[in-house]
Amino acid sequence: MKIHEYQAKELLGAYGAPVPPGEVAATVEQAAAAAEKYGRCVLKAQVHSGGRGKAGGVKLAENADEARAIAGEMLGMRLKTNQTGPEGKLVRKLLVTPAVEVKKEFYLSVTGDHENACLVIIASADGGTEIEETARTHPERIARVPVSAVEGFKRYEGLQVSGVLGLTGENEKELISLLDSMTRLYREKDCSLVEINPLVLTVDGQLICLDAKVTFDDNALFRHPDLKELRDTDEEDPREYRASQYDLNFVSLSGSIGCLVNGAGLAMATMDIIQHFGGEPANFLDVGGSASKEKVQAAFELLLSDENVRAIFVNIFGGIMKCDVIAEGVVAAAREMGISIPLIVRLEGTNVELGKQILAASNLKIIAAENMADGARKAVEAAAWTGGDGA
Ligand code: GDP
Ligand code: MN
Repeated sequence: MKIHEYQAKELLGAYGAPVPPGEVAATVEQAAAAAEKYGRCVLKAQVHSGGRGKAGGVKLAENADEARAIAGEMLGMRLKTNQTGPEGKLVRKLLVTPAVEVKKEFYLSVTGDHENACLVIIASADGGTEIEETARTHPERIARVPVSAVEGFKRYEGLQVSGVLGLTGENEKELISLLDSMTRLYREKDCSLVEINPLVLTVDGQLICLDAKVTFDDNALFRHPDLKELRDTDEEDPREYRASQYDLNFVSLSGSIGCLVNGAGLAMATMDIIQHFGGEPANFLDVGGSASKEKVQAAFELLLSDENVRAIFVNIFGGIMKCDVIAEGVVAAAREMGISIPLIVRLEGTNVELGKQILAASNLKIIAAENMADGARKAVEAAAWTGGDGA
């Protein structure tokens, strides 16, 4: 789960990190009122995306009048960053924060190192909006310091980081305290990322978190009911949000073939084989091992509600999942919503005969597939034939 910069800063602040003051504004008047208080200030679009600075989502205002004009332009605009895709993200809220005189920008983050089963602090003296470029062209300028997931952060690990960033004296102490805050937040709230970019040294020698990004591990959210209220469903793909309510593993993609599959591995393989035959999947969808008829129905309705979908490929290997349950869900959804696009079905495994009977009795027009490759080929053909891009 992603959250906004202002929420990440509040959380980090509660853990003792040096975050600047700020106010959230949903209207031009609120933005102007905050600017009145701060004077020279920065207005920052609150959307779940980085790269806002380069895209015009972070702007400096010299005074309240300028802030009013900037807020008028930013609120309601669609911000297109290198992370949002061409449709951009609607700006509903701004963070108004006092402008800071920056002397130097650093990159600092804490994330998981799954290979080594530990946390890792990632640090670079080349922070700011060019960090991705640095990662590509000068990976040696980005340091990685492992931290035990069990014991947590140790001071000497912080000394390695201050060496990389070239911070000494009071700033070194502040950095170590910040790293302690970031790693505690990471471990206590089951984060997958705590990122400060940029961490800045101001001209008067203060260390400040100018930007903040915190992402939580969805699989651990049940342990943190307090985090639920930080969720902003406006920022999420509405179909992915619906899928999450039914506990479906669903990722929306841009192709024309809707896929309904059980098991993440089979779902991946299904996407691969569709591409192998020259098509593009419209989604990744794993209904899971023990889906009910209602869950399958919800999944199928998600596929039907995507106007880019030109054909649906149901690819089920019934193990724990029973083919008849899948068939009942598909039939119920097709009855409820109607289906005017080709439906290709490959069923195999537990209760396969019963599943096929249910589909046959439904009078739905179904293109039966012998096996996975046959199904994928037929789905690609059908999608091209119904006017999808096919490729
Ligand atoms: P992002 O582009 O979405 O990561 O947004 P950031 O919050 O990181 O802002 C982008 C850039 O704007 C930062 O790297 C800074 O260089 C600049 N910036 C943001 N706030 C201030 C500020 O108060 N003073 C100055 N001088 N620069 C700022
Ligand atoms: Mn940033």
